[in-house]
Amino acid sequence: MSDKYDVIILGGGNAGLGVSAVAHEAGKRIAFVEQRDFGGTCPNRGCTPKKVLVAAGHALHEIETASAHHIEVSKPKLNWTKLIQREKGLISFIPDAMHDVAKKRGDVFWGSARFVGPNSVEVDGKVLEGDNIVIATGSKTRPLPIPGAELMITSDEVLSEEEQPGEVVFIGGGVIAMEFSHVYARAGTKVTILEVMPRLLPRVEAGAVAAIQAESERLGINVKTDVQVKAVAKSGDKLAVTYDLDGAEQTVKADRVINGAGRVANVETLDLNAGNVKHDRIAVETDEYLRSTSNPSVWVVGDALVTSPQLSPIATYEGRLVGENIVRGPAGPFVKPDYSVIPSGIYTVPALSTVGLSEEDAARQGVDVKVTTSDMSGWFSTKTYAESVAWSKVLVDESTDQIVGAHMVGHQSQELIHLFAMAMRHKIPASAIKNDMFAFPTFSSDLKSMF
Ligand SMILES: Cc1cc2nc3c(=O)[nH]c(=O)nc-3n(C[C@H](O)[C@H](O)[C@H](O)COP(=O)(O)OP(=O)(O)OC[C@H]3O[C@@H](n4cnc5c(N)ncnc54)[C@H](O)[C@@H]3O)c2cc1C
Repeated sequence: MSDKYDVIILGGGNAGLGVSAVAHEAGKRIAFVEQRDFGGTCPNRGCTPKKVLVAAGHALHEIETASAHHIEVSKPKLNWTKLIQREKGLISFIPDAMHDVAKKRGDVFWGSARFVGPNSVEVDGKVLEGDNIVIATGSKTRPLPIPGAELMITSDEVLSEEEQPGEVVFIGGGVIAMEFSHVYARAGTKVTILEVMPRLLPRVEAGAVAAIQAESERLGINVKTDVQVKAVAKSGDKLAVTYDLDGAEQTVKADRVINGAGRVANVETLDLNAGNVKHDRIAVETDEYLRSTSNPSVWVVGDALVTSPQLSPIATYEGRLVGENIVRGPAGPFVKPDYSVIPSGIYTVPALSTVGLSEEDAARQGVDVKVTTSDMSGWFSTKTYAESVAWSKVLVDESTDQIVGAHMVGHQSQELIHLFAMAMRHKIPASAIKNDMFAFPTFSSDLKSMF
């Protein structure tokens, strides 16, 4: 067999596997290049193992509410070592299972790929030729340019270190910091979050962020915003983080300092110049079909695409879309991604879930919306389940009667958000939902009162 392929896929995560699903079904000859393990970040080092930790956080939360139901329980003790072992045990089958999927769809080459021409890549000394080359190499933790940065760990270590740290500091208050800090805090680890911006989760609806910040502080998480971190240094058997806040230099000590500064596209080692792929080191320039603007044989999908929202279902969606465009052939017509309705969750305990426009987005875009903000703490379902936080904000476009945004904290938001998303995607008018029948008493039936 020659080393010439219809499609070479760099990276065997959600995005790469999404491309292969469509291209394989259409009979394309596929080569996969993977440098680590199949399945990629989400099932091996991201969403799935993280959710195992979050589930333990939920169990602790339920125990915390027991007294409201007049149930006597003693103070729970989480065995962190066994939790990490459980998490690893639950996902251990994934790389082999995904490797089997990849092998059924194409030839697998192990190693780090780099371009050696517009239609060729080199991996472990072997050159592969492709009519199409898909960059699906994911993302990596954003490097922080501060002295002592090498002393920090990332989410990878949080998910694999078996010893529970007594104290942790997150540098950056994004999704990863929020999710892990809730598990740590409930497990008894002391947590500090240092965020450079004026508020946590800067791109999330401000009211929802305020609600989850209050809940985080109730758990004892120390949140500091508008902070300039200056350095991380060893201090005996601890690490010391020095930062400026309100013009004064301060220090916090911890067993672990975690880089929570987000993730950047992982394209730096691909030698994009050799592939005639226009880029600025961080971002590959793509057109509206996710194709390189300088090399029509090259496509970018998933976290490697700098404009992508860095979510696992989006990586799969973009992968499948590019697979479809490749199958359509060089003349197209091509399909474009639609990012208008993306439900997503931040898996704090309880979760913050969101879809569509925030109030700030609506104002910026000039959409005339009716905004309904509900502190649901007094609602019967909230009180029945002794929820510690229950908050929502729903935006309805006044001219079209369409829901254009929904943001929730607590109240089973990670499930309810899909009802909002389905209404938005399938254009169900807000007034029709209000007149619909829901099983009662359920959290879903509260939806009609949220707008
Ligand atoms: C801690 C954490 C929690 C997360 N939780 C969620 C969540 O709850 N929900 C959600 O939707 N998303 C979550 N995400 C994001 C989600 O994991 C990503 O959006 C998704 O995995 C991206 O898929 P991908 O295929 O683009 O990249 P990846 O899954 O990262 O796959 C890229 C693959 O490319 C390989 N590779 C890289 N460079 C090369 C090279 N040069 N040659 C060959 N192979 C290469 C890598 O080894 C990797 O296997 C989380 C991420 C993290 C880190």
